[in-house]
Amino acid sequence: MSKTSKVGIIGAGNVGADVANALVLLGRCVRVVLYDRTLSKAEGQVWDIEDSIPLLKEMEIIPSNQYEDLADSDIIIVTAGVQPKLGQTRLDTLSDNAEIIRSTIKELDRVAPNSIVIIISNPVDVLTRIAQATSTRAENLIFGSGTVLDTARLRYQLGKQLNVAKQDIHAYVIGEHGDSQFVVWSSAFIGGILLTEFPIPQGATLEQIQQEYAQLTRKRGHNIFERKGNTSYGISTVVCQLVDTILRDEKQIFPVSARADSNYGVGSEVVLGLPCIIGSTGIERQLLLSRNSHEQRLLEESANKLNEAYNFLHN
Ligand code: NAD
Repeated sequence: MSKTSKVGIIGAGNVGADVANALVLLGRCVRVVLYDRTLSKAEGQVWDIEDSIPLLKEMEIIPSNQYEDLADSDIIIVTAGVQPKLGQTRLDTLSDNAEIIRSTIKELDRVAPNSIVIIISNPVDVLTRIAQATSTRAENLIFGSGTVLDTARLRYQLGKQLNVAKQDIHAYVIGEHGDSQFVVWSSAFIGGILLTEFPIPQGATLEQIQQEYAQLTRKRGHNIFERKGNTSYGISTVVCQLVDTILRDEKQIFPVSARADSNYGVGSEVVLGLPCIIGSTGIERQLLLSRNSHEQRLLEESANKLNEAYNFLHN
Protein backbone atom coordinates (compact mmCIF):
# COMPACT_ATOMS: atom_id res chain seq x y z
CA MET A 1 0.00 0.00 0.00
CA SER A 2 1.49 3.36 -1.03
CA LYS A 3 1.74 6.36 1.32
CA THR A 4 -0.71 8.25 -0.86
CA SER A 5 -3.30 5.54 -1.50
CA LYS A 6 -6.63 7.18 -2.26
CA VAL A 7 -10.05 5.55 -2.57
CA GLY A 8 -13.10 7.40 -3.93
CA ILE A 9 -16.66 6.34 -3.18
CA ILE A 10 -19.64 7.45 -5.26
CA GLY A 11 -22.88 7.52 -3.26
CA ALA A 12 -23.01 8.35 0.46
CA GLY A 13 -26.02 6.17 1.29
CA ASN A 14 -25.98 3.08 3.50
CA VAL A 15 -23.44 1.17 1.44
CA GLY A 16 -21.18 4.11 0.53
CA ALA A 17 -20.97 5.30 4.14
CA ASP A 18 -20.35 1.80 5.50
CA VAL A 19 -17.62 1.26 2.91
CA ALA A 20 -15.99 4.55 4.00
CA ASN A 21 -16.30 3.61 7.66
CA ALA A 22 -14.85 0.13 7.10
CA LEU A 23 -11.91 1.56 5.09
CA VAL A 24 -11.16 3.92 8.01
CA LEU A 25 -11.58 1.26 10.72
CA LEU A 26 -9.41 -1.26 8.86
CA GLY A 27 -6.87 1.40 7.74
CA ARG A 28 -7.04 0.17 4.15
CA CYS A 29 -5.80 3.45 2.53
CA VAL A 30 -4.73 6.93 3.65
CA ARG A 31 -7.32 9.10 1.90
CA VAL A 32 -11.02 8.54 1.24
CA VAL A 33 -13.28 10.85 -0.79
CA LEU A 34 -16.99 10.27 -0.22
CA TYR A 35 -18.94 11.80 -3.12
CA ASP A 36 -22.71 12.28 -3.28
CA ARG A 37 -24.82 14.53 -5.48
CA THR A 38 -26.17 15.91 -2.18
CA LEU A 39 -23.18 17.49 -0.40
CA SER A 40 -24.87 17.71 3.01
CA LYS A 41 -25.41 13.93 2.98
CA ALA A 42 -21.73 13.26 2.24
CA GLU A 43 -20.76 15.80 4.94
CA GLY A 44 -23.02 14.22 7.56
CA GLN A 45 -21.55 10.77 6.93
CA VAL A 46 -17.95 12.00 6.82
CA TRP A 47 -18.21 14.11 9.96
CA ASP A 48 -19.66 11.14 11.82
CA ILE A 49 -16.91 8.79 10.56
CA GLU A 50 -14.01 11.21 11.14
CA ASP A 51 -14.80 11.40 14.86
CA SER A 52 -13.15 7.97 15.12
CA ILE A 53 -9.89 8.97 13.38
CA PRO A 54 -8.12 10.32 16.52
CA LEU A 55 -8.52 6.84 17.99
CA LEU A 56 -7.21 5.07 14.87
CA LYS A 57 -4.42 5.32 12.29
CA GLU A 58 -3.96 8.72 10.60
CA MET A 59 -6.39 9.05 7.68
CA GLU A 60 -8.05 11.77 5.70
CA ILE A 61 -11.72 11.54 4.71
CA ILE A 62 -13.27 14.22 2.52
CA PRO A 63 -16.96 14.84 1.67
CA SER A 64 -17.62 16.07 -1.86
CA ASN A 65 -20.13 16.79 -4.61
CA GLN A 66 -17.38 17.67 -7.13
CA TYR A 67 -16.09 14.89 -9.40
CA GLU A 68 -12.72 16.71 -9.62
CA ASP A 69 -12.03 15.66 -6.00
CA LEU A 70 -11.81 12.06 -7.23
CA ALA A 71 -8.83 12.77 -9.53
CA ASP A 72 -5.83 10.52 -8.86
CA SER A 73 -7.84 7.96 -6.92
CA ASP A 74 -6.28 4.51 -7.06
CA ILE A 75 -9.70 2.93 -6.81
CA ILE A 76 -13.26 4.29 -7.12
CA ILE A 77 -16.21 2.37 -5.63
CA VAL A 78 -19.58 3.08 -7.26
CA THR A 79 -22.56 2.64 -4.90
CA ALA A 80 -24.86 5.34 -6.29
CA GLY A 81 -28.34 4.29 -7.24
CA VAL A 82 -31.76 3.40 -6.03
CA GLN A 83 -32.25 0.28 -3.95
CA PRO A 84 -34.84 -2.37 -4.83
CA LYS A 85 -37.98 -1.91 -2.71
CA LEU A 86 -39.31 -4.84 -0.69
CA GLY A 87 -40.75 -7.38 -3.14
CA GLN A 88 -38.65 -6.09 -6.08
CA THR A 89 -35.65 -8.00 -7.41
CA ARG A 90 -32.31 -6.34 -8.10
CA LEU A 91 -33.16 -6.38 -11.83
CA ASP A 92 -36.24 -4.19 -11.20
CA THR A 93 -33.99 -1.19 -10.53
CA LEU A 94 -32.14 -1.62 -13.82
CA SER A 95 -33.39 1.26 -15.94
CA ASP A 96 -33.05 3.88 -13.15
CA ASN A 97 -29.59 2.72 -12.17
CA ALA A 98 -28.36 2.26 -15.75
CA GLU A 99 -28.76 5.99 -16.35
CA ILE A 100 -26.94 6.84 -13.10
CA ILE A 101 -24.08 4.47 -14.00
CA ARG A 102 -23.66 5.86 -17.54
CA SER A 103 -23.47 9.46 -16.36
CA THR A 104 -21.19 8.57 -13.43
CA ILE A 105 -18.76 6.62 -15.62
CA LYS A 106 -18.53 9.48 -18.13
CA GLU A 107 -17.55 11.82 -15.29
CA LEU A 108 -15.03 9.31 -13.92
CA ASP A 109 -13.46 8.90 -17.38
CA ARG A 110 -13.03 12.67 -17.46
CA VAL A 111 -11.49 13.17 -14.01
CA ALA A 112 -9.89 9.81 -13.16
CA PRO A 113 -9.24 7.83 -16.37
CA ASN A 114 -6.63 5.53 -14.81
CA SER A 115 -8.41 4.55 -11.59
CA ILE A 116 -9.71 1.04 -11.03
CA VAL A 117 -13.51 1.25 -10.84
CA ILE A 118 -15.53 -1.27 -8.83
CA ILE A 119 -19.30 -1.31 -9.37
CA ILE A 120 -21.46 -2.22 -6.38
CA SER A 121 -24.84 -0.76 -7.42
CA ASN A 122 -27.46 -3.32 -8.44
CA PRO A 123 -28.14 -5.17 -10.63
CA VAL A 124 -24.37 -5.30 -10.41
CA ASP A 125 -23.65 -7.65 -13.35
CA VAL A 126 -25.68 -5.74 -15.93
CA LEU A 127 -24.50 -2.37 -14.59
CA THR A 128 -20.88 -3.51 -14.84
CA ARG A 129 -21.46 -4.46 -18.49
CA ILE A 130 -22.99 -1.02 -19.10
CA ALA A 131 -20.08 0.63 -17.28
CA GLN A 132 -17.55 -1.29 -19.40
CA ALA A 133 -19.39 -0.38 -22.59
CA THR A 134 -19.52 3.30 -21.57
CA SER A 135 -15.98 3.68 -20.28
CA THR A 136 -12.86 4.45 -22.26
CA ARG A 137 -10.66 2.68 -19.71
CA ALA A 138 -9.27 -0.83 -20.29
CA GLU A 139 -11.68 -3.60 -19.30
CA ASN A 140 -9.40 -5.02 -16.59
CA LEU A 141 -9.78 -1.70 -14.75
CA ILE A 142 -13.54 -1.96 -14.35
CA PHE A 143 -15.40 -4.81 -12.68
CA GLY A 144 -18.26 -5.48 -10.27
CA SER A 145 -18.52 -7.06 -6.82
CA GLY A 146 -20.26 -10.03 -8.48
CA THR A 147 -20.86 -13.03 -6.25
CA VAL A 148 -18.08 -12.24 -3.76
CA LEU A 149 -20.66 -11.48 -1.05
CA ASP A 150 -22.74 -14.57 -1.91
CA THR A 151 -19.59 -16.72 -1.74
CA ALA A 152 -18.74 -15.25 1.69
CA ARG A 153 -22.30 -16.00 2.86
CA LEU A 154 -22.00 -19.60 1.66
CA ARG A 155 -18.60 -20.13 3.27
CA TYR A 156 -19.79 -18.75 6.59
CA GLN A 157 -22.92 -20.91 6.79
CA LEU A 158 -21.28 -24.06 5.44
CA GLY A 159 -18.32 -23.64 7.81
CA LYS A 160 -20.73 -23.51 10.75
CA GLN A 161 -22.62 -26.59 9.55
CA LEU A 162 -19.47 -28.66 8.92
CA ASN A 163 -17.64 -27.27 11.96
CA VAL A 164 -14.66 -26.12 9.86
CA ALA A 165 -12.97 -22.70 9.65
CA LYS A 166 -14.72 -20.60 7.01
CA GLN A 167 -11.34 -19.85 5.39
CA ASP A 168 -10.97 -23.57 4.63
CA ILE A 169 -14.24 -23.76 2.69
CA HIS A 170 -13.21 -23.44 -0.96
CA ALA A 171 -16.54 -23.23 -2.75
CA TYR A 172 -17.74 -20.58 -5.18
CA VAL A 173 -21.11 -19.08 -5.90
CA ILE A 174 -20.99 -17.92 -9.53
CA GLY A 175 -23.31 -16.39 -12.14
CA GLU A 176 -25.75 -13.58 -11.41
CA HIS A 177 -25.62 -11.70 -8.10
CA GLY A 178 -29.32 -12.55 -7.90
CA ASP A 179 -31.77 -15.40 -8.19
CA SER A 180 -30.01 -17.37 -10.97
CA GLN A 181 -26.73 -17.67 -9.05
CA PHE A 182 -25.57 -21.19 -8.14
CA VAL A 183 -22.88 -23.02 -6.18
CA VAL A 184 -20.29 -24.98 -8.13
CA TRP A 185 -20.54 -27.98 -5.82
CA SER A 186 -18.57 -30.32 -8.11
CA SER A 187 -15.40 -28.33 -7.43
CA ALA A 188 -16.05 -27.52 -3.75
CA PHE A 189 -13.18 -28.45 -1.45
CA ILE A 190 -12.90 -28.43 2.34
CA GLY A 191 -9.21 -27.99 3.01
CA GLY A 192 -7.76 -30.19 0.28
CA ILE A 193 -10.65 -32.68 0.43
CA LEU A 194 -13.46 -32.73 -2.11
CA LEU A 195 -16.77 -31.91 -0.39
CA THR A 196 -18.17 -35.22 -1.71
CA GLU A 197 -15.52 -37.05 0.34
CA PHE A 198 -15.77 -34.92 3.46
CA PRO A 199 -17.42 -36.44 6.60
CA ILE A 200 -20.93 -34.99 6.76
CA PRO A 201 -22.64 -34.51 10.18
CA GLN A 202 -24.77 -37.48 11.20
CA GLY A 203 -28.40 -37.37 10.12
CA ALA A 204 -27.73 -35.18 7.06
CA THR A 205 -27.06 -36.10 3.45
CA LEU A 206 -24.77 -34.25 1.08
CA GLU A 207 -27.71 -33.54 -1.21
CA GLN A 208 -29.74 -31.99 1.62
CA ILE A 209 -26.81 -29.82 2.67
CA GLN A 210 -26.20 -28.65 -0.89
CA GLN A 211 -29.84 -27.75 -1.45
CA GLU A 212 -30.29 -26.05 1.90
CA TYR A 213 -27.13 -23.96 1.73
CA ALA A 214 -27.52 -22.90 -1.90
CA GLN A 215 -31.04 -21.71 -1.05
CA LEU A 216 -29.96 -20.03 2.19
CA THR A 217 -27.24 -18.14 0.29
CA ARG A 218 -29.57 -17.12 -2.55
CA LYS A 219 -32.18 -15.78 -0.14
CA ARG A 220 -29.80 -14.22 2.39
CA GLY A 221 -29.85 -10.67 0.99
CA HIS A 222 -33.64 -10.74 0.76
CA ASN A 223 -33.97 -12.07 4.31
CA ILE A 224 -31.73 -9.34 5.70
CA PHE A 225 -33.54 -6.71 3.63
CA GLU A 226 -36.91 -7.87 4.96
CA ARG A 227 -35.71 -7.36 8.51
CA LYS A 228 -33.62 -4.16 8.38
CA GLY A 229 -34.44 -2.52 5.04
CA ASN A 230 -30.97 -2.67 3.52
CA THR A 231 -27.70 -4.63 3.52
CA SER A 232 -24.37 -2.91 3.96
CA TYR A 233 -21.95 -4.47 6.48
CA GLY A 234 -21.14 -7.59 4.44
CA ILE A 235 -20.65 -5.70 1.18
CA SER A 236 -18.48 -3.06 2.85
CA THR A 237 -16.09 -5.76 4.09
CA VAL A 238 -16.07 -7.28 0.60
CA VAL A 239 -15.04 -3.88 -0.78
CA CYS A 240 -12.26 -3.56 1.84
CA GLN A 241 -10.86 -6.95 0.80
CA LEU A 242 -10.95 -5.99 -2.89
CA VAL A 243 -9.24 -2.67 -2.11
CA ASP A 244 -6.59 -4.45 -0.08
CA THR A 245 -5.76 -7.03 -2.75
CA ILE A 246 -5.42 -4.21 -5.33
CA LEU A 247 -3.33 -1.82 -3.23
CA ARG A 248 -1.03 -4.60 -1.98
CA ASP A 249 -1.05 -6.43 -5.33
CA GLU A 250 -1.96 -9.59 -3.43
CA LYS A 251 -3.50 -11.43 -6.39
CA GLN A 252 -6.31 -12.96 -4.34
CA ILE A 253 -9.05 -14.82 -6.18
CA PHE A 254 -12.59 -13.40 -6.03
CA PRO A 255 -15.69 -14.18 -8.12
CA VAL A 256 -16.16 -10.64 -9.45
CA SER A 257 -18.50 -9.47 -12.24
CA ALA A 258 -16.38 -9.81 -15.38
CA ARG A 259 -16.92 -10.53 -19.06
CA ALA A 260 -17.01 -14.31 -19.42
CA ASP A 261 -14.04 -16.02 -21.05
CA SER A 262 -15.34 -17.71 -24.22
CA ASN A 263 -14.17 -21.07 -22.80
CA TYR A 264 -17.11 -20.90 -20.37
CA GLY A 265 -19.38 -21.56 -23.35
CA VAL A 266 -21.70 -18.59 -22.75
CA GLY A 267 -20.31 -16.30 -25.46
CA SER A 268 -17.87 -13.51 -24.70
CA GLU A 269 -20.24 -10.60 -24.05
CA VAL A 270 -22.10 -11.45 -20.87
CA VAL A 271 -20.78 -10.09 -17.57
CA LEU A 272 -21.34 -12.24 -14.47
CA GLY A 273 -19.64 -13.47 -11.31
CA LEU A 274 -16.64 -15.66 -12.18
CA PRO A 275 -13.40 -16.28 -10.26
CA CYS A 276 -10.63 -13.85 -11.22
CA ILE A 277 -7.19 -13.02 -9.88
CA ILE A 278 -7.30 -9.44 -8.57
CA GLY A 279 -4.11 -7.40 -8.23
CA SER A 280 -2.68 -3.93 -8.82
CA THR A 281 -3.95 -3.86 -12.41
CA GLY A 282 -7.48 -4.89 -11.46
CA ILE A 283 -8.54 -8.15 -13.10
CA GLU A 284 -5.25 -9.88 -13.87
CA ARG A 285 -6.70 -13.18 -15.11
CA GLN A 286 -9.99 -15.03 -15.22
CA LEU A 287 -9.88 -18.65 -14.06
CA LEU A 288 -11.76 -21.49 -15.65
CA LEU A 289 -13.64 -23.33 -12.89
CA SER A 290 -14.39 -26.94 -13.78
CA ARG A 291 -18.11 -27.73 -13.68
CA ASN A 292 -20.36 -30.69 -14.46
CA SER A 293 -23.07 -30.67 -17.13
CA HIS A 294 -25.79 -29.59 -14.67
CA GLU A 295 -23.67 -26.64 -13.51
CA GLN A 296 -22.91 -25.72 -17.12
CA ARG A 297 -26.66 -25.60 -17.79
CA LEU A 298 -27.15 -23.35 -14.74
CA LEU A 299 -24.38 -21.06 -15.98
CA GLU A 300 -26.04 -20.83 -19.38
CA GLU A 301 -29.41 -20.00 -17.76
CA SER A 302 -27.84 -17.29 -15.63
CA ALA A 303 -26.02 -15.85 -18.67
CA ASN A 304 -29.25 -15.90 -20.74
CA LYS A 305 -31.12 -14.03 -18.02
CA LEU A 306 -28.42 -11.36 -17.80
CA ASN A 307 -28.18 -11.06 -21.61
CA GLU A 308 -31.95 -10.58 -21.79
CA ALA A 309 -31.86 -7.82 -19.17
CA TYR A 310 -29.01 -6.06 -21.00
CA ASN A 311 -30.65 -6.42 -24.42
CA PHE A 312 -34.03 -5.25 -23.08
CA LEU A 313 -32.37 -1.98 -22.13
CA HIS A 314 -30.67 -1.63 -25.51
CA ASN A 315 -33.65 -2.34 -27.77
P1 NAD B 1 -29.01 4.34 -0.60
O1 NAD B 1 -30.31 4.74 -1.20
O2 NAD B 1 -28.85 4.36 0.88
O3 NAD B 1 -27.84 5.24 -1.20
C1 NAD B 1 -27.70 5.57 -2.54
C2 NAD B 1 -26.97 6.90 -2.58
O4 NAD B 1 -26.70 7.19 -3.95
C3 NAD B 1 -27.78 8.09 -2.02
O5 NAD B 1 -27.01 8.76 -1.05
C4 NAD B 1 -28.02 8.98 -3.25
O6 NAD B 1 -28.00 10.37 -2.92
C5 NAD B 1 -26.82 8.60 -4.10
N1 NAD B 1 -27.00 8.88 -5.52
C6 NAD B 1 -28.05 8.59 -6.33
N2 NAD B 1 -27.80 9.01 -7.58
C7 NAD B 1 -26.56 9.57 -7.58
C8 NAD B 1 -25.75 10.15 -8.55
N3 NAD B 1 -26.17 10.26 -9.82
N4 NAD B 1 -24.54 10.59 -8.19
C9 NAD B 1 -24.11 10.47 -6.92
N5 NAD B 1 -24.84 9.93 -5.91
C10 NAD B 1 -26.05 9.48 -6.25
O7 NAD B 1 -28.71 2.88 -1.17
P2 NAD B 1 -27.64 1.84 -0.56
O8 NAD B 1 -28.30 0.97 0.45
O9 NAD B 1 -26.40 2.57 -0.20
O10 NAD B 1 -27.39 0.91 -1.84
C11 NAD B 1 -26.68 1.44 -2.95
C12 NAD B 1 -26.61 0.41 -4.07
O11 NAD B 1 -25.79 -0.70 -3.67
C13 NAD B 1 -27.98 -0.17 -4.45
O12 NAD B 1 -28.04 -0.30 -5.87
C14 NAD B 1 -27.95 -1.54 -3.78
O13 NAD B 1 -28.84 -2.45 -4.39
C15 NAD B 1 -26.48 -1.90 -3.97
N6 NAD B 1 -25.97 -2.98 -3.14
C16 NAD B 1 -25.18 -3.89 -3.76
C17 NAD B 1 -24.65 -4.96 -3.06
C18 NAD B 1 -23.78 -5.97 -3.79
O14 NAD B 1 -23.47 -7.06 -3.29
N7 NAD B 1 -23.33 -5.66 -5.01
C19 NAD B 1 -24.93 -5.12 -1.69
C20 NAD B 1 -25.73 -4.16 -1.08
C21 NAD B 1 -26.26 -3.09 -1.82
